[in-house]
Amino acid sequence: MAKREVDLSANDLYAGVKDELEKIVGKEWVSDDPVILIGYSRDQSLETAHSPNLVVLPESTEQVSRILKLANRYGVAVTPWSTGANAGGGCIPQRGGIVLDMRRMDRILEFDEENMSVRIQPGVTFGKVYVEAEKLGLRNVCPSAPASVSMLANYLDKGVFQVSNKYGVGTDSILGMVIVQPDGTVIRTGCLFQDNFGSICVEGPGPDITGIFQGSMGTFGICTEMVAQLYPLPEFEEIIPAQFEEDDLEGVTEFLRQVAREDCSFETILFQDAYLSMGLALNQDGAEILRAQMPRQNAIVFYGGETEEESAIRREQLEGVLERTGTELSPEGMIELFKDLLPWQRVFKIIQVTPRVERMTGCFELFWFNIAMDQAPDMARAFMKLARKNFADMGPAAERPFAFEETTFYLQPLEFGRTAMLEMDAYPNQGEPEGVKRGLAMARDAVPYICESGGLFDRPYGGVGSGFGWVQTPMLGTYYELLKGLKSELDPNNIMNPGRLGLSPD
Ligand SMILES: Cc1cc2nc3c(=O)[nH]c(=O)nc-3n(C[C@H](O)[C@H](O)[C@H](O)COP(=O)(O)OP(=O)(O)OC[C@H]3O[C@@H](n4cnc5c(N)ncnc54)[C@H](O)[C@@H]3O)c2cc1C
Repeated sequence: MAKREVDLSANDLYAGVKDELEKIVGKEWVSDDPVILIGYSRDQSLETAHSPNLVVLPESTEQVSRILKLANRYGVAVTPWSTGANAGGGCIPQRGGIVLDMRRMDRILEFDEENMSVRIQPGVTFGKVYVEAEKLGLRNVCPSAPASVSMLANYLDKGVFQVSNKYGVGTDSILGMVIVQPDGTVIRTGCLFQDNFGSICVEGPGPDITGIFQGSMGTFGICTEMVAQLYPLPEFEEIIPAQFEEDDLEGVTEFLRQVAREDCSFETILFQDAYLSMGLALNQDGAEILRAQMPRQNAIVFYGGETEEESAIRREQLEGVLERTGTELSPEGMIELFKDLLPWQRVFKIIQVTPRVERMTGCFELFWFNIAMDQAPDMARAFMKLARKNFADMGPAAERPFAFEETTFYLQPLEFGRTAMLEMDAYPNQGEPEGVKRGLAMARDAVPYICESGGLFDRPYGGVGSGFGWVQTPMLGTYYELLKGLKSELDPNNIMNPGRLGLSPD
């Protein structure tokens, strides 16, 4: 662990740290109560649980800065936690120490309606911004995650959305940040670099260093403010759901690729029946009923425009793609259902508030990575095969929402279909030792397969065993050496989320 200026036994150490933290944030915002700490020790992934020694809730950048200075003096680890929804072990304090829970910093600081941006703190949720932005005819881009997720942490974490083909991934919407570096120094990036910059987009000046904070899972510092871009809400909107046979992965991929290439949609995604029915229905029984009526592969396309005319042009383009690819629309009843449930403004409110994973098995073993679109069919088939191998004979499916060997995946075109994000999910049960064992075996099979097949994990979550960084990082060679050098330069005491991303020596 880190070099300490103050050398004490563990008990005395944390008693001393607690005292000083209380002076910074006030007594009521620090806890070492094991009942509270255990809540921070695990998430929905298979990563091994580990409790912090203390949790602290700061209310300002200045307090965060003082806490990091203090942590350096005592050489204790600090793990930032914004809403803890990353489902990849990112906030589990692998080396104990302090969890810095940012949820008190939950203010929308400013909307800039004219220049379409919002300035937020880490505890601000997608839901909060969506509801307020909608009143101004604007929207934030949202993942198909719960509405209670931190917008700042998701954007910093390279979030991927159904609108990503049009508006990019989370980091593409970041205009500026306030970052507290590991030594407590505060820096401002992008449009926050200077007070009079407004919402203009600034990379650099000169070489842009913001990249080291993106996808870094708190290992390079803590973001306490962000200015993020907003987008216009379309006046007109329509949905086209298309169906594909169980095994027609080539067909659905080509359809999505062409839609993305023509740039004629707002949202474009492949969802499978299991995942989509979970997202749409309000409970498990509803999901089962819906699922039975759904095609296995559902390509969902939202299109529309600022004017009726623009919307009609998009429709024409889409009809061309449907014809060229010989794609069938979903059955009429299904289209009606989608129309009813999924108008643009409500996608977020319905799919995204539904705590899908929790009502399944409590565990979401997810593998998400970037690939070229035409690799998706083979990779998805291989993933299903691995799941059948690893979860076969786990007992009757009837007792569980879904059979263990069932997987879901979704394909999200990016950059006009030049590339894509493929997410493949398995659902082992954290509560069953055998489920955990098989889940970890699944990761040991799937991660090397994905890396060797050209998949790139741009969010290298997890620890050894449950995550994916362990396979990919040694493949990065000199690139990784440079990152490790930067890490030891900026965080010499290795206090920031140590153990994460394989960046630190211990
Ligand atoms: C059911 C479900 C579905 C999901 N679907 C999607 C999806 O479709 N697309 C998508 O993009 N995501 C999805 N996610 C992931 C999720 O939405 C998270 O937003 C995202 O991964 C980050 O989680 P968070 O915002 O809660 O941040 P946290 O979990 O709090 O943090 C994520 C990482 O960043 C670090 N961190 C936290 N706050 C800060 C900070 N202020 N400064 C620096 N580092 C910080 C943490 O230490 C951690 O390593 C899904 C999650 C769930 C549970």
